[in-house]
Amino acid sequence: MAFTTEVCRKCKKMFTYPGFGSKYCPDCRKFDEENRDKVKEYLREHGTANMVEISENTGVSQHDIKQYLRDGMLEIPEGSPIYIKCEKCGCDIRSGRWCPECAATLSKELKGMFVGIGEKPKVKLEGKMRFLRKR
Ligand SMILES: [Zn+2]
Ligand SMILES: [Zn+2]
Repeated sequence: MAFTTEVCRKCKKMFTYPGFGSKYCPDCRKFDEENRDKVKEYLREHGTANMVEISENTGVSQHDIKQYLRDGMLEIPEGSPIYIKCEKCGCDIRSGRWCPECAATLSKELKGMFVGIGEKPKVKLEGKMRFLRKR
């Protein structure tokens, strides 16, 4: 492993990067891990909640929660009222940046480069279903 000096993506501080993992300094990484655990704990105790609720009750900013979801550090539980969107086709996913279908296409285009794949929710939204039945 080659150690290099990198600038932390979050606080812009210089730190020694061990050559793997996300480019955050040890302080920010620890901060993020603690935040992620708080959110996980909250979801385990209260089931599904919306972003505002989670943010208010854990003290973790909505921006950070979204970041953890995109990074795959967190996953939205099944049955949640909201999900994040696949960056390519816009369908609902529980974490990461792309749904499995788009990730498969992208990974072919990118010749097997790592892509953030998020699982699709199995339970469809109540509201959406009602909307569909009306039509
Ligand atoms: Zn940092
Ligand atoms: Zn997609």
